[in-house]
Amino acid sequence: MKDAKKDKCSHDNCSCQAAADSKYCSPYCEAAKGTAEIACGCEHSTCAGKVSPV
Ligand SMILES: [Zn+2]
Ligand SMILES: [Zn+2]
Repeated sequence: MKDAKKDKCSHDNCSCQAAADSKYCSPYCEAAKGTAEIACGCEHSTCAGKVSPV
């Protein structure tokens, strides 16, 4: 049995589930920590914080 925590990604605007070995769902979110982004640009299509292409 894995000790996988079902934590949300620590990026405020990201709704993805964080990776088992990280506080973030992707390198994008990890790199975005500390920044005041208005939207999430991770690669997950299910993310609710996606930037809408105009
Ligand atoms: Zn995201
Ligand atoms: Zn994320």
